[in-house]
Amino acid sequence: MTSARYDYLIVGAGFAGSVLAERLASQHGARVLIIDRRPHIGGNAYDEANEAGILYHKYGPHIFHTNAQAVVDYLSQFTEWRPYEHRVLAVVRGKQVPIPINRTTLNALFDLDLQTDEEAAEYLASRAEPVAEIRTSEDVVVNAVGRELYELFFRGYTRKQWALDPSELDKSVTARIPTRTNTDDRYFTDTFQAMPKDGYTAMFERMLDHPLIEKRLGADFRDVRREVDYGHLIFTGPIDEYFDYRFGKLPYRSLKFDHRTLEQEQFQPTGTVNYPAEDVPYTRISEYKHLTGQDAPVTTITYEYPSAEGDPYYPIPRPENQELFKRYEALGDATEGVTFVGRLATYRYYNMDQIVGQALATFRRLDQARSAANSEEPALDLAG
Ligand code: FAD
Ligand code: UDP
Repeated sequence: MTSARYDYLIVGAGFAGSVLAERLASQHGARVLIIDRRPHIGGNAYDEANEAGILYHKYGPHIFHTNAQAVVDYLSQFTEWRPYEHRVLAVVRGKQVPIPINRTTLNALFDLDLQTDEEAAEYLASRAEPVAEIRTSEDVVVNAVGRELYELFFRGYTRKQWALDPSELDKSVTARIPTRTNTDDRYFTDTFQAMPKDGYTAMFERMLDHPLIEKRLGADFRDVRREVDYGHLIFTGPIDEYFDYRFGKLPYRSLKFDHRTLEQEQFQPTGTVNYPAEDVPYTRISEYKHLTGQDAPVTTITYEYPSAEGDPYYPIPRPENQELFKRYEALGDATEGVTFVGRLATYRYYNMDQIVGQALATFRRLDQARSAANSEEPALDLAG
């Protein structure tokens, strides 16, 4: 390919970077250097055992769910799975009720006895306030369940999480949470829902365990870019940072995680409990033993406190941010020798499976470009 020491320098060892490192090394025989400024691989999906021996997620709870069989097949080369269906309760008016809002939620909250999907649908229709053009995260919810439920479950949570009113956010954000008329209380309805059996970090270790992949951790691209000799760059960090904020900062939302280990076997009835009230400073508490099935006399939980400062975790979906991103994207497209991929570099509010899908698609494009380049070579070379 090139005479560089590494064919690829990959910045970021999360899902995007690790999938590409694995594909390029195993399928193209490429020499890959993958770096991360954090002291570990796995990106935001990183997990580790804490001092009490509990497997917890350093950057908040990660539950794997997907409808993409190709993504499951790909990851299954590197992990076995523990079936797990996530359930979430929301604390509303002093009660813990299922979220997404379902028939059980309505019955518990309003002291009703809705027996069928039809009854629940009728009830919701009687509360819903139809919105002609659904644009914002407020519109989606008010249109489906009306203002009271919107305020109880969505307005406070969203204002805390994003520091924006739902009316200022794209509809895609709250549209992640459906409304149900049945009693299905699972957070996700995807066909595949499971946790990597030995954890995410173990899965990443197996992905990156290849003689052509070298890892360098605690290494920032800014510091290594000049000293490393590479052919092509794959960048999975924030795209505005790559271009030195030329057009101004792209907004990302951060979180502070408060991890606590308690001397009790169980803290709460489900993996996550949401606290939508605006006067509670955190958005949710998650308890890992539900996710992992770990058996222990103690338990570890994480509070999530939204924050403007800190690592960029969430792109903020709203039109003006998308416009700014498009300018960076155009600059990226015009930059030779660099591929931008991942949640931060493509500024997309993507789940893990979507990032794996995006990285696999990126590999296919690199693969096609390589085949095309090879087929242009003289026949003599091909024969040789
Ligand atoms: P990242 O995991 O962010 O990896 C990018 C890496 O690049 C980072 O490790 C960073 O340190 C490194 N980097 C950036 N810039 C540089 C630089 N200049 N030099 C060196 N390294 C650099 N998804 C789900 O499917 N299910 C869930 O339950 C779920 N829960 C989530 C909960 C929270 C609190 C958060 C924040 C996200 C959650 N996600 C979940 C989304 C999931 O984390 C992402 O989809 C996925 O991790 C994105 O992978 P990535 O490789 O694009 O980015
Ligand atoms: N949301 C809400 N109340 C809830 C759960 C979610 O208002 O009880 C809104 C909120 O804006 C949140 C978004 O829906 O940011 C997406 O929720 P999800 O649980 O998918 O967030 P993530 O796990 O990505 O942080």
